[in-house]
Amino acid sequence: MKVICASALGMCFGVRDAIRAAERVTDPAGVTILGEIVHNPAVQEALARRGFKAVDEAAGRDGLPSTPGVLITAHGISHRRHSELEVSGRRVVDTTCPLVRHVHDCAQRFRQEGRFVVVIGRAGHVEVMGITGDLEHFAVVDEPEDVRDWGHPRIGIVCQSTTPPHRAEEIRAAIAAANPHSEIEFYDTICRPTKDRQRAVLDLLPQIDILVVVGGRRSNNTRQLALLAESRGVEAMQVECAADLDMDRLRRHRVAGLTAGTSTLDGAIHEVHRALLSVKPERKSRPTAVEAVCAMFRGCSPDENHDSGRMAPSARAAGPWK
Ligand code: SF4
Repeated sequence: MKVICASALGMCFGVRDAIRAAERVTDPAGVTILGEIVHNPAVQEALARRGFKAVDEAAGRDGLPSTPGVLITAHGISHRRHSELEVSGRRVVDTTCPLVRHVHDCAQRFRQEGRFVVVIGRAGHVEVMGITGDLEHFAVVDEPEDVRDWGHPRIGIVCQSTTPPHRAEEIRAAIAAANPHSEIEFYDTICRPTKDRQRAVLDLLPQIDILVVVGGRRSNNTRQLALLAESRGVEAMQVECAADLDMDRLRRHRVAGLTAGTSTLDGAIHEVHRALLSVKPERKSRPTAVEAVCAMFRGCSPDENHDSGRMAPSARAAGPWK
C-alpha cells in the first residue's frame, strides 16, 4: 500500500509542554490530574504507572482532590475553579495551553463588554466547560442547527481551540442570519496547530483512497480530522494504534493518507505507518481524484495510470515515518 503522510500531523507544542511539565513533577503520588492530561490512553497509562491520581474530567469539577497537589491539564479550567483550588491550599501545577488561555481571555473580554457569549464547540468538552465556567450568559453551539435568536443586542463569538475552521464559519454565518439585529463580534480562537492539520488533510484528500487518523477516541481534534475526510467523500479510519487497523477494509484500497491528532505520540504514528506499508491491496482501487484528472489529460484511462503506480508529483510518499 502506498502511504502519503500529511504535511502537518501529530503532537502539538501545547501537549508536549503539558507532558513535560508532568514529567518534572517529583512527587506524582501526591498529585491528582484533573481529567486527562491529553486524550491519549498511552500517556494516561504511563502517568498512572508513575503514581499520579486522576479524576474524571466532569467529576473533577466538583469538590477537592484528596492529594496536596493538583495538575491542570492542557485543556484548562475556569478561573473560579482555579481560585477554589488555590484557596484550599492545593499546590497547583498548571499546564493549560497558552492558546486555550487565549480563548478564555477573549471570552472574558466579551463578558466585560456586556456581550452574550457564544462558544462554538462541544458542550461537555472539558475545554468548553472551563471557558463557560466563568460566564453567566452564554450558549455553546456545535452545529448550525443549535443556533437561536438569543434576543441580545450584542453577541461575542469565540471557538473551542480545536474547532474545524469551516465549521466555525458555517456557525458564524448561521448566528448572523438568526440574530439580524445584534451587533456581533467574532474572535477566531482556533489554534494554529489545529488549522495546520486540517489544511494538510484537505491537501491530501485528492491523492488518497482512504484516510487513516491516529489518535485517542476521546480526542476532539482527532475526530474532526476523520469527519473532515468523510465530509469530502473520502473514507476515514480512526485508530489509537496499529492493532486497531481494520486490515480487511485497508486491503480494498491502494493509497492511504496518514494523519494524527494533536495528542498522538510519535511512536503510535510510526507503528501505524509501518503497519500500513505492509498492507497488500487485494485489487485495484478506484483512482484518486488527482490520478483521474492526470489520466484524462494524458488520454489514458485512470486504470492505466494505476498500473504504472505513478503518483502525482506533489504527493509526498511515506514522509518521515517511512
Ligand atoms: S490543540 Fe491547540 S490549544 Fe490544544 S494543546 Fe494543542 S496547541 Fe494548545
